[in-house]
Order: sequence, then structure tokens, then C-alpha cells
Amino acid sequence: MVSRVIPVDPFDLVIFGATGDLARRKILPGLFHRFMVGQVPGTARIIGAARSEYDQQAFRDMVRDNLTEFATKAAKQTELVEQFLDMIVYVRVDATGNDGWSDLAAALRSDVVRAFYLSVTPSLFGAIGAKLHANDIATPDSRIVVEKPFGHDLETARALNADLRRNFEENQIYRIDHYLGKETVQNLMALRFANSLWEPLWNSTHIDHVQITVAESLGVEGRGEYYDRSGAMRDMVQNHLMQLLCLTAMEPPSKFEPNSVRDEKVKVIEALEPVDLADIVRGQYRDRDGDGSYRDHAGNPNSRTESFVAMKVKIGNWRWAGTPFYLRTGKKLRGRSSEIAVVFRDPPHMIFPKMEGRRGNALIIHLQPDEGITLRNTIKEPGPGGMRLAEVTLDMTFADALDQHAEPQDAYERLIMDVIRGDQTLFMRGDEVEAAWAWADPIITGWEDARLTPAGYDPGGSGPEDALMLLHREGRRWREIG
Ligand code: NAP
Repeated sequence: MVSRVIPVDPFDLVIFGATGDLARRKILPGLFHRFMVGQVPGTARIIGAARSEYDQQAFRDMVRDNLTEFATKAAKQTELVEQFLDMIVYVRVDATGNDGWSDLAAALRSDVVRAFYLSVTPSLFGAIGAKLHANDIATPDSRIVVEKPFGHDLETARALNADLRRNFEENQIYRIDHYLGKETVQNLMALRFANSLWEPLWNSTHIDHVQITVAESLGVEGRGEYYDRSGAMRDMVQNHLMQLLCLTAMEPPSKFEPNSVRDEKVKVIEALEPVDLADIVRGQYRDRDGDGSYRDHAGNPNSRTESFVAMKVKIGNWRWAGTPFYLRTGKKLRGRSSEIAVVFRDPPHMIFPKMEGRRGNALIIHLQPDEGITLRNTIKEPGPGGMRLAEVTLDMTFADALDQHAEPQDAYERLIMDVIRGDQTLFMRGDEVEAAWAWADPIITGWEDARLTPAGYDPGGSGPEDALMLLHREGRRWREIG
């Protein structure tokens, strides 16, 4: 099945931080991919903005180099690259100073969609918003896109929201969580709300528990210093895993419309019960084979920051009372894999002989490395050996099912196109982010106040032993990572 491409309206997109890592690795290559397939029209204009000195040609040369490095193979089509580069201009602007703002205003057109992507440190959000207004650059329907991290805790998230709202309405603000741009995450909504099969089963009567895992095989690499101020809870759970939990657990919205969807997500976060410290396992990877431990990589020999966290979360509402959600994320684990596993209860009465190792029905929504859905079923083992049972999975890898091997789409591509289309469904609303921090803050301060040191774990495994026990003690077990 070849996906249809509907071009977006002409737009001017200003990328603040256009010389930075995110712009060069994700935003500009993503825009090029969308241009290559005809979704970004040739009439679009991309304005790179940062403080560095570049003339137009030098900036375009840098973008060309980035495309060569980061765009997919098919994207390296010289003719299209040159057409794309013709759409790009560079304006030297200092977010905190007065230079460059009139040049930026002059580079923009009045009759097209206008979007500002703040690919800069969050401490500049307020200053950029103020300058855009003071220089009459932001119009009432301009869009402003901001990146994670959105706050370090509830207080800083509130302050960032206040910074943004001083100059923009909530319906102009697009807070990116790139997990929401993944095909499978959106498919979770389609699966749940476009089929009649699942909804009757989607509750604690039929679902035993849900496991959400985001495992990484890499360590903190070059981000050690930053990560050490954050940790897995702030870096992954409060945002990405929370979003996955919300989409899995939320009630059907009355419409597929941004505020209806986001209202339902907020209700899930507000229904989360306080997490008992006994239901949380924090870990820190040790050294193996001289690769260095977390503390070595973080440059902090006494660090108590977690590179792994697993927890049991309960949602206090009618649908989910009695069905725990287990969340797990960490670095230096056995593999790089992200998935949501919805594990169903056993039949109330089993008429067949007990099957050793039977795990039961589960719907697994795979997010990475390959996006797709599998459904684990119990069948009769083929052959004349009597009524023996076996487990098989129905497998729908999207790349196979939809013949999309040629051009996998990065989450950023989809999200940027949604910004231009003015669709906020896959972006976090301000109250949603604050609700997630209001839930996460007491957990983090709880272990900070108790000065708890995370348990050590060996790289290449599944995290600390206690994380396995979190499920074992309740007669459940995690799915294998990787
Ligand atoms: P980066 O490589 O440090 O780039 C920062 C950009 O900001 C540079 O282009 C810099 O350009 C510009 N800048 C700094 N001060 C400025 C000022 N006063 N006025 C105008 N421009 C200024 O950072 P990054 O990795 O691209 O990350 C950008 C944001 O995205 C951060 O908030 C980060 O947390 C977030 N993020 C990044 C990633 C990623 O993969 N990199 C992933 C998720 C979220 P000049 O020095 O030329 O001014």
C-alpha cells in the first residue's frame, strides 16, 4: 500500500537554533524528506536563525552537508537537494539582543502560514517570544514549536508555560514529544477507536496488566553531564512513557480533535494514584569490560541519578482499578526496544492440560526498532500428539503489511507537517505537562529526600534484579528486552 501524500499549504518556518544538533540531524533532513515526496511545496520558505556568522551560501553548504550525512539514501538526489536549498535563507539573530530582528521580519511573507521552531535551550523561550511580539513578527495565527525538556519539575514547567503564554495563546503552542509522532503510537488510537474488537476487552475485567518498556542499549554517551541532572524519571518517564500510558489507558474521546484527545489524556494523569516507594526500582549501570560505569560517564563519582527505573503504577478509575501498569526504561540494557504489552487475563476455566511456560494472550504494540503489532494466541500444537497447546503470534509489521520499506518516516517529519496543518492532536497541552510533573515531582523528591542510591546493574541485561522481582512477587513477569 503506497501512502498518499497531501501537500501542505505554503509556509514560512523559522528555525531558531538552525546551526544546532537537532536542526541539523532531524528538522532540516525531515523537511527535506517531506519536500522530496511532494508534501512540502516548493513555495515554502525555511529561515534558519542563530547567532553564528554565515552568509547565505555558507549556510546552504552546511545544510547540504547535513543532508548528505543525515538524510536517507533516496534523499540524496542532487537536483532536489539544490531546489530545497533554494528555499532556505539564514538570518543572524541573537535571541537575547536586538540584532537581526528586522532582517527576520523582512524575510517573512504576510500571506502564508508562519511557524517558529524554538530548537534552542528552554531558557530562551521567553526572550524569543517577547522579541517576536515586540517586532510584530508573530501574528495571531503563528505557531510556536518547543522541544523537550519542558521543565525540570512542576515549578519550572509552570514558569515555561507562563513564558510562552505571555506572547502566545495555547492554541498556538506546539510542545513536541517525538514519541507521539511515531506511526505506532497513532496506530494505537486507530486500533482502539476504529475497531469494535478491542474496546469491550479494554478494561480490568479482561486485562491483567500492561507493561510499557523503553529500553536503550547505549549509555548516556556524550550527554552525561546533562543526564546526571535529569535521570530516567525526568528524561523518559514523565514525558514519553507517560504519553504511552495515557494513550493506552484513556477513554475514547468524543471526537478525534486535539482538545478532545488531550482532555482524555489529562484525565488519566489525574487519576494516577501516588506511587509507593516500594513499587519503584531505580538502577545505575555498572562498568563492564572497562567501558565505564554510569558514574564514569556522568563524570560524577557520587551520583545518585538513576539510569534505569521500573515502577508499578495504578490508575484509580472504573476502567483500570485492579490492572497495574508497569513502566520500565533504562540505558545499557540488552537491546534497543520500545513496546507496550497489553497482557490479558487467563480464561476463567481451562479445559486443556496445563501448558508449561504458557504466557497467555497479549497484544504487543512495538514502537522500535520496528513498528508493528503482534497478538499472542494459544493454539493446538500441530500433529497427532494429542491435544497439546502452543503459543503463536499473529504478526503485523507495518513495513511488511503496508510495503513501506522504502521511506521510513521520522517522527519529526510528521510532527512538523502537523504544525503547518495546525493540528495539535499529537502535541502536549500545557495543563497536560503540568499534570505529569505534578505526578512525578513527589516521587522524585521522595527518593531525593531519602537520599536513596540506585541499585547497580550490569550492562547488557534487563536492569537490577529487584526490577524482575517487582513483577515476580505478583506472579507476573516482564517480557524479554530486545
Ligand atoms: P545545540 O546543538 O546546543 O544548539 C543550540 C542552538 O541554539 C544553536 O543553533 C545555537 O546557535 C542557538 N543559540 C544559542 N543561543 C542563542 C541565542 N542567544 N540566540 C539565537 N540562537 C542561539 O542544541 P540542540 O541539541 O540542537 O538542542 C536544541 C533544543 O532541543 C534543546 O532544548 C534540547 O534540549 C532540545 N532537544 C534536542 C535533541 C537532540 O537530539 N539534539 C532532542 C530532543 C530535544 P548559535 O550558537 O549559532 O547562536
